[in-house]
Formats: sequence, structure tokens, C-alpha cells
Amino acid sequence: MAVPVIQQVRVGAYIMGKKLRGVEKYPLVLMLEPLFRCNLACPGCGKIDYEDDILNKRLSVEECLKAVDDCGAPIVSIPGGEPLIHKEIVQIVEGIVARKKFVYLCTNALLLEKNLSKFTPTPYLTFSVHLDGMEAHHDKAVAQPGTFKRAVSAIRKAKAMGFRVNVNCTLFDQMSATEAAEFFDFCTHDLGVEGITVSPGYAYERAPDQEHFLSRKKTKQLFRDVFKHEGAKKWRFSQSTLFLDFLAGNQSYKCTPWGNPTRNIFGWQKPCYLLNEGYADTFQELMDSVEWDKYGTGNYEKCADCMVHCGYEPTAVTDTVSHPLKALRVFLKGVNTEGEMAPEINLDNQRPAEFVFEGLVKTLSQKMAEKEAAEGEKAA
Ligand code: SF4
Ligand code: SF4
Repeated sequence: MAVPVIQQVRVGAYIMGKKLRGVEKYPLVLMLEPLFRCNLACPGCGKIDYEDDILNKRLSVEECLKAVDDCGAPIVSIPGGEPLIHKEIVQIVEGIVARKKFVYLCTNALLLEKNLSKFTPTPYLTFSVHLDGMEAHHDKAVAQPGTFKRAVSAIRKAKAMGFRVNVNCTLFDQMSATEAAEFFDFCTHDLGVEGITVSPGYAYERAPDQEHFLSRKKTKQLFRDVFKHEGAKKWRFSQSTLFLDFLAGNQSYKCTPWGNPTRNIFGWQKPCYLLNEGYADTFQELMDSVEWDKYGTGNYEKCADCMVHCGYEPTAVTDTVSHPLKALRVFLKGVNTEGEMAPEINLDNQRPAEFVFEGLVKTLSQKMAEKEAAEGEKAA
């Protein structure tokens, strides 16, 4: 099953609890990035082009667990970089599992096979393996031949050892609907993974490979074409049915930018996982200081093309809890692939993009160096 029943129940109860208490803004998934260093250098990645001193930084176990406690989200996703490079990743995962939170450990799987014996299978832990299509597509997307075979071998081993495994893929515009359908068939029936997390490539500001990312219009058509394939109803996605319906152009959702807050070595990233417009020192400061209404498609130029799950899945999940019959209908009938699409959000009044990133990283690096120097002096 894509999402364990216990997770569905917990997340449903968490949302209902927030609604009953009148809390308007609450996180669903904490994006915890304990490091940026990776053992691959994918052209589409915006995370790994920092200077070495930044790539060598790590969040400690204590910092990670404090972030989990402060945020309170029922699900913790650990992207990177490559989390398996972090020497204390096992303790970080164990600490989160001990808190009965659901961990998705995102990995390119190059180090997975040799590290599997350090982890214990549990419904609270899912390895989320980055695979961007079948062999030729994937190896090209990550710019290294042989990675698909290694990732697939690690997935099979993990499954045989009783671990839950998801495949996490980004669709780029070089992939046809037929190729995407073949890949989803492979993941579901051959690899037998619990679920697939799919994200349309989105030209977020730091991704160097802007030209191959999908725009909203292309995204919707591609997903309609993909879902037309025979057998589409059997694919197991770890995302809500209404999010898939949104990808196929059947829902006019607005982004929920606070749904997946990000904690990394710099602090709490403003406003979301994809954009980087400053940092808050604490989770509460993040929630209080960001002017959330200034973000999302229609509000901000940088958000115009975004349909990524970190902003729109929380909207779809909240809609599912509020309108379970609508979600059930889509689940039973399958995603609609014909007819008019839901109205698009008007972009006429969006504010222009602000480019603050380079200056920001310089300031943050300086601040971190000063802090370390001060701590060194204190210790001496
Ligand atoms: S595996 Fe992920 S983190 Fe590593 S370079 Fe590729 S996209 Fe970036
Ligand atoms: S639309 Fe939402 S998730 Fe996408 S970049 Fe903007 S704020 Fe982030």
C-alpha cells in the first residue's frame, strides 16, 4: 500500500485536530536537510552548487530532532544532498521513528545497499529512491551511467529485507507520456515499490537546467496523456488522488507554502523548499515572519509555473479531509483525462521576482564563520 493505514489515520487526525482548534497554518511535512553534499551532480539539481565550506556542514542529531519537535509535522522527509553520506543518519532516523513520526529518507541509492543492515524495517520508515525514468532517462538525468542499475538493485534488496520503498521521480519534458507510463508500470509491477512520488520539473530559481523543466500547461497535458494509459488505475502513488487530479488540470488549487517547511544548515528557509528568500532562526519565527500571501501562483512571478507537491500536496490533502466524497469519486473513477480543464489562476497581479539568493548565501556564510570563530575563542 502506498501509504500505511496508520499514517493515513494519524495525518487525518492531525489535520482534524488543527481544524477543531481553529489553527489555520500548520505544517504537514518537515523537509529536513541535514547536509547539501551529494555523491552525484545532477544537472537539474539546485542543492549542490554551494562552496565547499557549505557542503561540508552538517546538522547534528540534536539539531535535527529539535527541528522535528519544534515543527510538529507528522511526516519528516529527509532530502539532501545525499542523507546517507551523513555519519549520524541512522541516529537521526531512529530518533524520529522513536517519536512515532513517518520518515521518508530520500536517497539516490548509490550507498543504500551497503547501509541497509544499519536500519530496521518499520512502517514509520520509507526509503524514497530517486529514479527519473527507465535506465537511459535516469542515467542521463543524473549524468552518470550505471546509476539506474545500482538503484534498482538496492531497491530489490531493501524490499527483500522487508523495508518500505518509494520511488521519487521528477518528470522532465524530454520524457513522453508513453515512456512515463512504462516507467510507472515498471515501478509498480516489477519493482513492487509501495508508492511513487511524482513531481513535475519546475524551473525553480536555483536549478541550473531551466530549459527542460515543465511549465504548468505542458505539465497538465503530459499528466492527462500519462493517465490515459491502460493500467493507470493500478499504479500506486504515494500522493493524494486529488493532487494527481490537480496535476492533470482538474483542480484550481492555490499553493499552501507553509505546508512543507524546510530546515537546513542555515536555519528555517523562507518561504518554501523551492524558493530561498532568507532564513528564520526558529520554526515559530518562520511561521510568524513570512508574509505568506505574497507567495504562490498568481501572487509572485517566481511561483508562476510551480505545481510541485511541496506546495500543492498540502492543499490537496486538506481538500481530501474536507471533501472525502470528492476524493473517493476521483479514486474510484480514475483521474479525468478529457474535457475542459479547471480555470487557471490569473497571473495579471503577480508581483515581480526578487533575486536575493547570492547576497543571502554570502551573508549566511559570513555569519556562520563569525559564529564558529567566536565559539572557538570561547573554547580556547
Ligand atoms: S541525487 Fe539529488 S541531491 Fe544529489 S545531485 Fe542529484 S538531485 Fe541533487
Ligand atoms: S508556488 Fe508555493 S511551493 Fe511553488 S515556489 Fe511558490 S511558494 Fe514555493
